[in-house]
Amino acid sequence: MADRYAVFGNPIKHSKSPRIHAAFAEQTGEAVDYRAQLVELGTGVFEQQVEQFFAEGGKGLNITVPFKQNAWRMASWRSAAAERAGAVNTLYRNELGTLCGDNTDGVGLVCDLQNNNGISLKGARVLMLGAGGAVRGVLEPFLKAGAVEIVIANRTVAKAQELVELFSDLGQLSACGFEDIEARAFDVIVNGTSASLQGELPPLPDAIVGADSACYDMMYGAQPTPFCNWASQRGAAKVIDGLGMLIEQAAESFRIWRGVKPQTPELIAQIRAELSG
Ligand code: NDP
Repeated sequence: MADRYAVFGNPIKHSKSPRIHAAFAEQTGEAVDYRAQLVELGTGVFEQQVEQFFAEGGKGLNITVPFKQNAWRMASWRSAAAERAGAVNTLYRNELGTLCGDNTDGVGLVCDLQNNNGISLKGARVLMLGAGGAVRGVLEPFLKAGAVEIVIANRTVAKAQELVELFSDLGQLSACGFEDIEARAFDVIVNGTSASLQGELPPLPDAIVGADSACYDMMYGAQPTPFCNWASQRGAAKVIDGLGMLIEQAAESFRIWRGVKPQTPELIAQIRAELSG
């Protein structure tokens, strides 16, 4: 019988994770049954359902909005990446039965940038837009991949400042509001705000995009996101959306659970074709 896995979130209906993990299982020959489960909002509901899932023999969970911090609190052991990020998107039990938490969002983004799109972070000056859960998860992997500077710009500057303090021992970080972003070209600009979800774009100076800049939106969709359109219109060298990040973070979760890392480029192309078809 296949081992049971699931993604817990709210909303969850449009999650691509079951499609992605079914493809990984087929590709690797692993016996995996992966479903999406809606978890109602309410005190203790998420925690009760996680416990029930594992008590009934479930092997691993992905956790998405808005439960990543709850998952962090539940995990008795956390990877270094999850520990500092304050968010867990991958849960499993180790051989001793301990509930373990990891965060694969950062690895997913770094992998998509470097391996799939040939953008090196070594020596890169990075502008990070947003200071929410997703950005928290990518700061450490970016600095470890060699980024020499990260400017975090956020609507609520205090949240960006908080992240600067949290990660300052790892590299050169600074915080500002969108209107105070220095007018100079960055090597890599990442949109980690959820503004694109509302069809919006933070107010950004044109000068941050140079002819060699790579612009990445964590969001993705059938159409180019507002941020991707904005970056293309300003002549960015590369403009990429977050579909590859989604698939790479899933591949890293699969590796943690099954010990085998699936190949991703073909699946990224397939799902992109499905999205636009
Ligand atoms: P959070 O809710 O934790 O953070 C949202 C961030 O967006 C905050 O910095 C918030 O600013 C900012 N924001 C929200 N609305 C606006 C707006 N209208 N204008 C400017 N800033 C705004 O979300 P997450 O960090 O979890 O997710 C962020 C994005 O990343 C989402 O689009 C999500 O879909 C995507 N994502 C993609 C993944 C992938 O695999 N491709 C993985 C994880 C996330 P403030 O602090 O001021 O409220």
